[in-house]
Amino acid sequence: MKLCRLQPLALGPVTSGRRGAEFHPAAHFAAIEGDTAYALEGWLPRARRQTGQSWPLAEVRLLPPVLPSKIVCVGRNYREHIAELKHPTPVEPLIFLKPPSSLIGPEEPILLPGISQRVDYEGELALVIAKTCSRLADNENIAPYLLGATCVNDVTARDIQDADVQFTRAKGFDTFCPLGPAIETELDLSDVSVETFVNGARRQSGRTTQMIFSLDVIIRWISRMMTLLPGDVIATGTPSGVGPLAAGDVVEVVVGGVGTLRNPVAAREE
Ligand code: ZN
Repeated sequence: MKLCRLQPLALGPVTSGRRGAEFHPAAHFAAIEGDTAYALEGWLPRARRQTGQSWPLAEVRLLPPVLPSKIVCVGRNYREHIAELKHPTPVEPLIFLKPPSSLIGPEEPILLPGISQRVDYEGELALVIAKTCSRLADNENIAPYLLGATCVNDVTARDIQDADVQFTRAKGFDTFCPLGPAIETELDLSDVSVETFVNGARRQSGRTTQMIFSLDVIIRWISRMMTLLPGDVIATGTPSGVGPLAAGDVVEVVVGGVGTLRNPVAAREE
């Protein structure tokens, strides 16, 4: 099943933009079947009852599919990406946070801040948490805690990341976390493709089998530090092939079995 968050276009323009995580009064959670979105009465963890309302997908704007309390990112989780950044192979996961205010939905523009000379795309598989989890045991099954998977672009001001000790500024600009288009709840995540295209040309191509730390290890490890809440997002690391974005580009993150997250790129008005 594919779950999304949407606003009917009939209700006027979406202004989530730089306030992407804000609850939009006209937003609905919905399940997508074919070309139709069916409104859901509840959401996490298991509420799936439909309200009876539905819209053709062509008549809605998709928003970031969840409103997370936090976005936890795993850095350096694909061997070839570590080699291209010339970092040593980590012995345990490297994690950092992106603020929920950086979220945007499909088709919303990524805005390049004037203070960075190099803003990179990082296409990634994102996990969405279904149920509160804290201090999971070493071999505990993560399936009950997982709602599903979607696409995320961990947009990064690479020059600022290199200049700062913390990743907060480089990873935290408004619009630096495109998420969506929908959450796939029935996907086997053991061998899924993760690709990024810029203006139609493929720049990144990886599979979850190439991860240093597997998805279950990552969730258990994070849960030992911080409680993961329903709707929280985990960006699981990017394959090799990261590169810069320029105003006028269109960037697409494609996760096999999930869909395509497409965003235009524009210069930010300073
Ligand atoms: Zn990343």
